[in-house]
Amino acid sequence: MRNAQDVVELVEALRPAYVALADQVFDTPEVAYTETLSCAAHLAQLRTEGARVSENLAGIPTAIMGEWGHGGPVIAILGEYDALPALGQEPGIAEPRPMGKAGHGCGHNLLGSAAMLAAVALRDWLAQSGLPGRVRYYGCPAEEGGAAKTFMVREGHFDDVDAAITWHPGDYTGLMAPETLANTRIDFTFHGTAAHAASNPELGRSALDAVELMNVGVNYMREHMPDDARVHYAYLDAGGEAPNVVQARATVRQLIRARDNKGLRDLVTRVRKIADGAALMTETRVEARIVSAVSNMLSSPALEHLMEAHLLALGAPVFDEADRAFAAAIRQSLTAEHSADTFWRVGLEVQPDLALADFVVPLAQTRKAGQGSTDVADVSWAVPTVQAWVATCALGTPFHSWQLTAQGKSPAAHKGMVHAAKVMALTGRDLFAQPDVLAKAKAEHAAACARTPYICPMPPEVSPAIPL
Ligand SMILES: [Zn+2]
Repeated sequence: MRNAQDVVELVEALRPAYVALADQVFDTPEVAYTETLSCAAHLAQLRTEGARVSENLAGIPTAIMGEWGHGGPVIAILGEYDALPALGQEPGIAEPRPMGKAGHGCGHNLLGSAAMLAAVALRDWLAQSGLPGRVRYYGCPAEEGGAAKTFMVREGHFDDVDAAITWHPGDYTGLMAPETLANTRIDFTFHGTAAHAASNPELGRSALDAVELMNVGVNYMREHMPDDARVHYAYLDAGGEAPNVVQARATVRQLIRARDNKGLRDLVTRVRKIADGAALMTETRVEARIVSAVSNMLSSPALEHLMEAHLLALGAPVFDEADRAFAAAIRQSLTAEHSADTFWRVGLEVQPDLALADFVVPLAQTRKAGQGSTDVADVSWAVPTVQAWVATCALGTPFHSWQLTAQGKSPAAHKGMVHAAKVMALTGRDLFAQPDVLAKAKAEHAAACARTPYICPMPPEVSPAIPL
C-alpha cells in the first residue's frame, strides 16, 4: 500500500494516550451497566480522535460507538470496560490488599483501551491508504453477566457491519478457540402461603421447600445432561430469616450452559419442567424470569486464519526482567497446579519456571478444557468475528481473582494491550486491503447461518438489567 505507514508504527505512536486510558478506567472500577465514568472516559477519547459518535446503543446509557472513514466495508473493533464486584485490589503488589470496592479482575480496562487504540490506528492507516472503508469502535458494557452485546445485536447495531475483531487479556497468547458455551440466567421465584410454622403449618405452602425441591431435581438431571453442559445456582431470596414462618416467597437463580443455542433451549425446557414439578409438589406457583442470555461462539475460519498469521508473525509480547520478576512474585501466591492448568488447557508441556508466556499457541493445538461464555458470541452470529488472547499477566493467573487485578496496571499488562492492538489493527488492515478475504469470511458466515439459523437467546420482552 503506497504511502501507507506500517500499522505497527501507527499503534506505537498512539500508545501513551491509550495506556493512560486503560489506567484511568482501572482507577474507576464500575460493575455491569453502571460504567458511567469508564464510558465517559472512552467517549471523551472518541471525541478527541474526531469520531462520529453514537450513544445510548440499545437503550443502554453506557453503550457507545465511534466511527471514522467513508464508504467501503465496515470493520468493528469491540471493547469492554466493566469491572467485577469486590475485586478491588491495590495494583503492583504481589499480595492481597483489598480496596473494598469493585475491581478489574478480568482486565477489561485493558480490553477496551486496546480495542480503541487498534481502531484509531486503523483509521490512520485507512486515511493514508486512500481506500474506502469505515472503522468502528464499539464500547460494550456489562460483559460480566449483563450480555449487553446480545442486546446490541438484537437491536440491530451490527446489521451494517462486515466483520468484527476483538481480544481478551490472558496469561498466554493465541487465538481464542471459537468454543464458548451458550448460557442463560433465569430467576425462578416461587410463591407460596405464609403461616405460623408451629401452630398452623397445615395452612402454609413453602416457597423455600419448592426451591429446595427444584435444586434436587436439577441435581438428578445432571447425570443425564451432555458432558459439556453446566448448571449453577444461587439463592437470591431464601424467604427470610425466621424458621418459624412458612416462607411465602423464595427465588433461585439458575445459570444454565450448553454447547450451542439448540442444546441450551433443550436444557432450559427441562429445567422449566423441574420448576413446574417443584411447584406442583408444594402447591406453590412459579414465575420464571430470564435475566440474560448469550449464544455459543460461531467460528470464522477465514478470519481465524488471518489473525493467527499476525499472531505467529508478531510472536508473544516481549517482556523484560522486571516484568518477569513481578510475575514470579505473583506466582508465589498461586499453586503449581495453576500454571500447570494453563499448559494442560492448551495442550502444551508444562514449563514450571516460566513466569510470563513467551509462546504463541497455534489454533490447531489441542485444547483440552471447556470454555466459559461471552457475549462476543452473539456478535459472531451477526457478522464474522475473531478474538485473540494476548498475555498480560503471569502464567496461571486465574480470571476474576485479586492476582489479576493486581497486575492490571503493570508494565507487562501495558505491553500486552499494545501488542493486542497491533494484532487487531493488522487483521483489520487486511480486511480492507484484501476484499477477497473479507468476501470469503462473509460467505462462510452466510453458509453457517443457513445451516443453523440464529435465534437470539434473549427474548424480545427482556431488557438490560440497568440499575435505576
Ligand atoms: Zn473478561
